[in-house]
Amino acid sequence: MLVATPFLIYVLISNGYSVAITTYVVAVGVGLVFWVMEWLVPFKEGWNHSHGDISNDIISGVVAYVILPIFLKPFFIALLAGGAAWLSVQWGGTIWPSDWPIVFQLIFLLIMGDAGRYWGHRLAHEVPFLWNFHAVHHSAKRLYWWNATRQHPVDKTWFTFTEMLFPVLLGADGIVLSMYFGVTVVCGFSQHCNINLKLGPLYWFFNVVDLHRWHHSRAIGESNNNYGNNLIIFDRLFGTYYHPERQTTSNRQVEEIGLINRNYPQHYLGQLIAPFKKGLDKEDRE
Ligand SMILES: [Zn+2]
Repeated sequence: MLVATPFLIYVLISNGYSVAITTYVVAVGVGLVFWVMEWLVPFKEGWNHSHGDISNDIISGVVAYVILPIFLKPFFIALLAGGAAWLSVQWGGTIWPSDWPIVFQLIFLLIMGDAGRYWGHRLAHEVPFLWNFHAVHHSAKRLYWWNATRQHPVDKTWFTFTEMLFPVLLGADGIVLSMYFGVTVVCGFSQHCNINLKLGPLYWFFNVVDLHRWHHSRAIGESNNNYGNNLIIFDRLFGTYYHPERQTTSNRQVEEIGLINRNYPQHYLGQLIAPFKKGLDKEDRE
């Protein structure tokens, strides 16, 4: 899926299909594959059933991943236009290596996207102001394919900014961004989906399935790890790679997930205003 999804996007857009429609249709298709896999090979059978969270996750997903991006992309391009132009002048032309084969451009983009996003995510856990908003994403009490999209709009804005910082400054554009989105969809859904898979050598490079499940652990010592977006290489580089069942011979699996505060609001409006209420998630940082 990591290979087929960006390849399919490349073929469709090259043949004249709309970028927006192609990426959203492929995203839904990828999500449905994970949904079927959850029923075939569940990690926890109980997580396949609603915990009263579906309406919140649908609203949150539509706001953060359909409505918000319409405004975010032009906003960040405008915001970073000065920096991108300055870098381009220093370089003596467009920095983005658009003459490279598309596969190498995609790999370069994955590394550049994660270079900023790793620190964006890590700071969201380590800076209290940012954690107030990111706590919404960690409030899920089960993991299933769709709650990848549970994100506060402020948190989503911060994540998108840090993820797109280097790609936009370097001048990445066009079809490679859509292919990158395809990889992100596969990694994002895989990180949250309730499937029991062991992915062997993929764990060297990609932040997939159980790696991100540990990131949602209720134990802070476990969850403050595995910050990568698509890749795990920056976690390996900066000492936040955490994968007990692979680093040791034990078969220990993540137990409880979510916030320490079990009274955290679970409906959309409550989560929208929760970051502005003093002390609501304080105990999660202690
Ligand atoms: Zn997180």
